[in-house]
Amino acid sequence: MAGAPQPDCLFCKIVSKDIPATIVRESATTVAFRDINPQAPTHVLVIPKAHYPDAASLAAAEPQVAADVLREAGEVAADEQVDGTGYRIILNTGSGAGQTVFHAHAHVLGGRGLEWPPG
Ligand code: IMP
Repeated sequence: MAGAPQPDCLFCKIVSKDIPATIVRESATTVAFRDINPQAPTHVLVIPKAHYPDAASLAAAEPQVAADVLREAGEVAADEQVDGTGYRIILNTGSGAGQTVFHAHAHVLGGRGLEWPPG
């Protein structure tokens, strides 16, 4: 079934709480937790509870949940007080773009200067 948990997926195991994570927000459809290898003072991942391999496939199948992910990313930025100075939401898609976990996730980065273009 589309969106069903995958037994070999790290982020599905964080959703089910079989693997611990520092969860900062949770909604009916999403979980937000601190990245284990932070690249900025604020580095939080927002994921859908449903399993889709990337953000585009999530948006195609469940557009409301994709919107929930973006809303929660904004709430994380407000909670972390980086919304005033600016923050970045990143959706790495495909291994060539740096995606290493194939469960859709949005990185929320803030709390330092962020250069453009990203590397
Ligand atoms: P990607 O490279 O865009 O796929 O992002 C995956 C992110 O997941 C990386 O920034 C990793 O540091 C992070 N990550 C991997 N394993 C864990 C974990 O167990 N807890 C929290 N973050 C993780």
